[in-house]
Amino acid sequence: MSDNDARPGVHDLRSALQRLQARPDQLIETDHPVDPHAELAGVYKRVGAGGTVARPTQIGPAMIFNNVTGYPGSRVLVGLMASRERVGLLLDTSPRELTQRMAEAVKDAIEPITIDRDKARCQEIVYRADDPDFDLRTLLPAPTNTDQDAGPYFCLGLVLSSDPDDGTDVTIHRLCVQGRDEMTIFFAPGRHIDEFRKKAEAQGNPLPVSINMGLDPAIPIGATFEAPTTPYGYNELAIAGGLRGRPVELVDCVSVPQRSIANAEVVIEGVILPGRRDAEDQNTHTGHAMPEFPGYNGAAHPALPVLKVTAITTRRDPILQTLVGPGEEHTTLAGIPTEASIYNACEAALPGFVSEIYAHTAGGGKFLAVMKCVKRNATDDGRVRQAALVALGTYRELKNLIMVDEDVDIFDSDDVLWAMTTRMQGDIDIIVIPGVSGHVLDPSQSPAYNPRLAARGVTAKTIYDATVPFHLRAEFARAQFRDVDPRPFAPDLDLEYPVTS
Ligand code: MN
Repeated sequence: MSDNDARPGVHDLRSALQRLQARPDQLIETDHPVDPHAELAGVYKRVGAGGTVARPTQIGPAMIFNNVTGYPGSRVLVGLMASRERVGLLLDTSPRELTQRMAEAVKDAIEPITIDRDKARCQEIVYRADDPDFDLRTLLPAPTNTDQDAGPYFCLGLVLSSDPDDGTDVTIHRLCVQGRDEMTIFFAPGRHIDEFRKKAEAQGNPLPVSINMGLDPAIPIGATFEAPTTPYGYNELAIAGGLRGRPVELVDCVSVPQRSIANAEVVIEGVILPGRRDAEDQNTHTGHAMPEFPGYNGAAHPALPVLKVTAITTRRDPILQTLVGPGEEHTTLAGIPTEASIYNACEAALPGFVSEIYAHTAGGGKFLAVMKCVKRNATDDGRVRQAALVALGTYRELKNLIMVDEDVDIFDSDDVLWAMTTRMQGDIDIIVIPGVSGHVLDPSQSPAYNPRLAARGVTAKTIYDATVPFHLRAEFARAQFRDVDPRPFAPDLDLEYPVTS
């Protein structure tokens, strides 16, 4: 037992799993053999993926597969954060208050520290790529999510890299296994590690990186913040430090001049090679990459940077963590930081006016948000739209916004649609801002869809103002029922009373 194990609370993946095991219906395990090629993701699509995957699906438990065909002794975890309720459990708060919890963590950020190698659990086992028996493809059971995918992917690989002048960055990137010691790495335009890579490549240098998998969930969710909350050069690991009230621990890699996350289950060390590009589907020629967060298959990229693996280090009996790309897990990982960024910006611009924000799962936590506004007087009619503009100005990838009043439950889509149905007139309450920067993975954001769009990833942004005009508020009071404790009448239903969250 190291010191780490004595700490209270969630501090690594295993303590996160222990917390879930103490609750009913949050984590299941199976010994049934599963093929990592398309079967594992196919199972979880039905069990718990949710989000934007094709129906049928549902919100369900996280799942550990103990018997992965072709990988004796390997375990794969999927869906750890594929429910807002579960993320609340793992981050010590209620699902509703995650926005504010993350917003506070940004203000309380604590920089990571580096610990000695002999204390780093992630280096209990070391495999070096210069060993002739080394083969990435047989060491780790990277799943292929669908039969159309370009290859096996590490879907929750937190890439850590640094630049001598510009600092350190951590970001989850799409990593496709290409050979015994090679992977391709996909960067959406403007990602910070890609800027480091371009600088290194211009000087003819490889870029040392570590890929960290199987982490305290505070780390990947903190890493998903984007500029302007975490501008170029900002080390997002500091937000996980803020969430936990103690620094994330790093350790020097064994094979490259880089650091890795000391409590990771699995670390892949390597360098991004200068001047090299490979087709993402060079081994399969499927034309597809993998299912992306908007729910569609991403196109295989014809020329991606190549990551040369130099070593893999793991804990004993490591758990490989993955996700189903378009699922609810993307919504929580991307969306809760989105909510927190918008919340902090609205608090700065319009203090106290926006009380809740939900980055809705229909947009994978990026494209659609519902915002609750607290109107106090007639001038607040205009502040609703001002808050929407603040949100659009804060988070570039946001496309549509639904603005509702205090009496609407933003996490209940039926209630939001009710507000849109009874509190909107389309000609005066829908505001469209054409031709703004958006996201390339939304297929409607293309000149083929609308010839007025200059390029892919340019979009109209739409504000749906479903709030009641202040002077008409008396006509929009919801019918009030008597507040009764229902529990004596329906004891088996496990109803909450009084409702606390
Ligand atoms: Mn960054």
